[in-house]
Amino acid sequence: MHNRAVMKGRDRNAPCWCGSGLKFKKCHYNREDQKRENPWDAVAANRKAFNQKKCWAEEVGLGPCQGSIIRAHTVSKGSNLRKIAKDGHVLQYGASIEGIRKSGGKLSVKSIGINEASVFNGFCAYHDQTLFSCIENEPYSGCPDQNLAVAYRTLSRELFGKDAMAELKTILRGADKGHDLSAQISLQALIGELDLGNAAARRELRATHDALTDALVHQRPAALRSLVIEFDGRLPFMFAGAWSPFTDLYGAPLQNGYVDELLEQVVFASFAGDPSDFICVSWRDTPRAPGKDIADQINELSGDQKAKFCLQFVVKHIENIFFDPAWFSLLNQGQRDLLDGLAFDGVDGLGAPPAVALKPDIEFVLPQAICSTWV
Ligand SMILES: [Zn+2]
Ligand SMILES: [Zn+2]
Repeated sequence: MHNRAVMKGRDRNAPCWCGSGLKFKKCHYNREDQKRENPWDAVAANRKAFNQKKCWAEEVGLGPCQGSIIRAHTVSKGSNLRKIAKDGHVLQYGASIEGIRKSGGKLSVKSIGINEASVFNGFCAYHDQTLFSCIENEPYSGCPDQNLAVAYRTLSRELFGKDAMAELKTILRGADKGHDLSAQISLQALIGELDLGNAAARRELRATHDALTDALVHQRPAALRSLVIEFDGRLPFMFAGAWSPFTDLYGAPLQNGYVDELLEQVVFASFAGDPSDFICVSWRDTPRAPGKDIADQINELSGDQKAKFCLQFVVKHIENIFFDPAWFSLLNQGQRDLLDGLAFDGVDGLGAPPAVALKPDIEFVLPQAICSTWV
């Protein structure tokens, strides 16, 4: 790939060594003399460029799209976010690259309006209404239809995020302008590695997403299995997220991330009900599903431990979690440090699985689990 003869410009029309697919003369030719770019401008440009709107349920057998693409909340605004909000706001860990830079490499929570929280432009008005009415307009009861709808919406958002990441990496390929050849080669090699990891993650997510779409089309909600945990009071956080679990609740390995292997996902979502709140853990009904192993471990915990473990595990793995500002402001330093560390661990840098351990000995003010149901 790093063909120095080509780089010296003997064949400027050959594909560039960096793997961009462009001709060398249009890509890395004279790159060291080009004006340097500010990579943070590229990040901002990406955000703007990736405001694309498409319906994930288009032409998959769920009927034709109708109406414009709407702002979908992956954590329901009315039923969930409003219940933990203060003056219409909740707290979220800022996982943006700029945010980390500004805070000197530390992740911190920021206030976000519930109209903005967990939003993505993922579905047309028709599909949003028909697919998610069972969670938006009916109280959560843990039934398979509701769990499937939540998992489908969550995975759609995760896939959207992976697409945005792929786009960002394309933009960052220009960040070596004005740098010497060795810097160019190391940056392009790094982006190549990131792309490989991201492409694999997209493939896995896509496979699970396809399977859930199929379950929706053929009305087979049992394709997804869940553990539904009911709590005796208000949960001070609301979340919806999915990931490929490499490790279980205690950090032990679950599935090996071989490049050719399609990894299974686990989906975590919470619901503010009346009077009880719920956490739902879901996985695709396949043999040896790692999500089932995680659900087993959570199920074995005593009632006063379940919310604490779920909180730490979810903060470690997903960014789509929102906190009640009143509850968060009362955390002591030990609790804050633990959550900050877990949240920072979950930031997807080089695609390495998060490694910070949960701390079962740190207590939080959380409701008790009163009942668990396998569905
Ligand atoms: Zn190039
Ligand atoms: Zn649609």
